[in-house]
Amino acid sequence: MRARQAFISRHGGPEVIEWREVDLPAPGQGEVLMEIRAVGLNYIDTYHRSGLYPLPMPAALGSECAGVVLAVGPDVKSHAVGDRVGHCLGTRGDYATARLVPARELLDLPPDIDFTTAAAVLLKGGTTEFLAERAATLIEGDQALVHAAAGGVGQLLTQWLTTNGVGVIATAGSEGKLAIARQCGATHAFLAHDPDLVEKVRAATGGTGVPVVYDGVGAATWEASLKCAARRGLIVSYGNASGPVTGVALSQLTAHGSLFVTRPTMGDYYLTPEERAAGVSRLWSMLRHGHVKVTIGQTYPLSQVAEAHRAIEARETVGSTVLLV
Ligand code: NDP
Repeated sequence: MRARQAFISRHGGPEVIEWREVDLPAPGQGEVLMEIRAVGLNYIDTYHRSGLYPLPMPAALGSECAGVVLAVGPDVKSHAVGDRVGHCLGTRGDYATARLVPARELLDLPPDIDFTTAAAVLLKGGTTEFLAERAATLIEGDQALVHAAAGGVGQLLTQWLTTNGVGVIATAGSEGKLAIARQCGATHAFLAHDPDLVEKVRAATGGTGVPVVYDGVGAATWEASLKCAARRGLIVSYGNASGPVTGVALSQLTAHGSLFVTRPTMGDYYLTPEERAAGVSRLWSMLRHGHVKVTIGQTYPLSQVAEAHRAIEARETVGSTVLLV
């Protein structure tokens, strides 16, 4: 089968993304051939492209998609032709019109979840599930600080925590994004670059600071995260949109009140088939009950993925971005 797939042959800016026509062979042992109907854009794709997370070259890009099984390998019993499936994390290469995927990496899509929604929410919603309910232990009445709360993960996380009775203090890069964070349930919303951010967060927590900070921004927000955490609080540093946090002396954690830090990744929370099934099932449940809504802030034709990379890195996107095949 002929397909179009995106590759890079060197790390760099969005311009290094190139498209190739490929001939896909019949699926081998353990593989399925998947026709891709919608692709999710994730910030991690920019790390793979730029080299923040270096890849051997040439490298296929794309970490999230949804579509239909066109053929299965000789030994594959878990899936059949026509199945509606999603894919996230695992082997890269989801920027494509079709691809071969290890069957063990596929997630079955329920009938009420369309391809665009699945591509918008599988990776970011799965991440939100483990961040909200497993990476930190928050109970009703607690408060949490969520940076970049109008972003893809940020909107989902703000809604999810709010549903669980956690008061969310949000930060974001513009007044328009603060309004979005409030719509998602944030009780307080402050500009990320507000010089009085720490004082405002402290005031919003009666002076104590928050027991949990969710920080997917990284370098630019690290200092504020340290200063906004309560004594014995936890910083969940789950991403590097502004660059990675490096060179942290453990004494900083002492100085800011015996803090805890975790740098989690989805793969470690979706390790076993049981964890994957439970996490995704919880995600579908939150969506079905309307506790969490997926906002697709913008779509691009898949062929314009380079422009989508430019936009997310320029902080121009809100919510999820879907690439339409
Ligand atoms: P977002 O839609 O949240 O986009 C990133 C946001 O970060 C921007 O919109 C912007 O919001 C904010 N930001 C602040 N400073 C910068 C900067 N200098 N450059 C670019 N963006 C900046 O992306 P995603 O929802 O895809 O991902 C959010 C974070 O979650 C990322 O760090 C990603 O790596 C991480 N992640 C981690 C996972 C894990 O398993 N650990 C899994 C999935 C995602 P604003 O303008 O409001 O500040």
